Amino acid sequence: MIGRLFGNLSQKVPSLLYRVSLVMKPQVVFVLGGPGAGKGTQCSKIVESYGYTHLSAGDLLREERAREESEFGQLIANYIKEGKIVPVEITINLLRKAMEATMKKNENKFRFLIDGFPRNEDNLQGWNSVMDGKADVKFVLFFDCSNEVCINRCLERGKSSGRTDDNRESLEKRIQTYLQSTRPIIDLYEKQGKVHTIDASRSVDEVFADVKAILDKEG
Ligand code: ADP
Ligand code: AMP
Repeated sequence: MIGRLFGNLSQKVPSLLYRVSLVMKPQVVFVLGGPGAGKGTQCSKIVESYGYTHLSAGDLLREERAREESEFGQLIANYIKEGKIVPVEITINLLRKAMEATMKKNENKFRFLIDGFPRNEDNLQGWNSVMDGKADVKFVLFFDCSNEVCINRCLERGKSSGRTDDNRESLEKRIQTYLQSTRPIIDLYEKQGKVHTIDASRSVDEVFADVKAILDKEG
């Protein structure tokens, strides 16, 4: 089923994204860091001051999980609870649709913060095969902080978030997934000179001051 989806997807993407990219090719900033590093918090602040649209892979997957007609709802629920990375065919399809819908509504909205993606080799390969030449990855914002800070922030968030994965058991797994699967992707971009590393253990405003300096410089 997933194979079929991916097949259909690669046929559709050239036509749809090609059409919107005639207007302006999507400019993408990947936003990475451990669970609770503050990616979502900083993305919201960036959106307030810069012309970016924030797309969170986690949020899109949670929305899809909640959609009644979704054929992937249960699968996504299981992966999220286990802190595992959902198959790329699902995630990239959600991202692509969200990008297209944004640009269709307003052709000037071609700058995207893609938060929580690419999270592993599979994500990266999926992106390269589906989006290569159709979107430009400008750079990566890497919010860096210790596992302990990440866990404490998520446990605090868990008091009100209602998230099924903001508990100690899921968090241990999410941290392992982050260290084993996502860090190597950040290292890979680092070797290409594309990573801006930000010390995310400081206050929200201190972190944002660094973010602003980077965005102002990158243009
Ligand atoms: P992520 O998107 O990386 O999972 P969030 O932005 O949701 O992380 O932040 C996780 C939790 O930590 C939230 O409850 C948020 O309010 C809090 N938080 C985010 N940034 C900071 C910070 N710099 N200092 C303290 N708490 C923070
Ligand atoms: P987040 O909201 O970024 O903390 O992500 C919550 C969960 O959603 C993760 O632990 C994964 O199960 C899933 N998820 C988020 N981003 C991705 C992605 N890029 N690929 C696959 N699964 C993802």
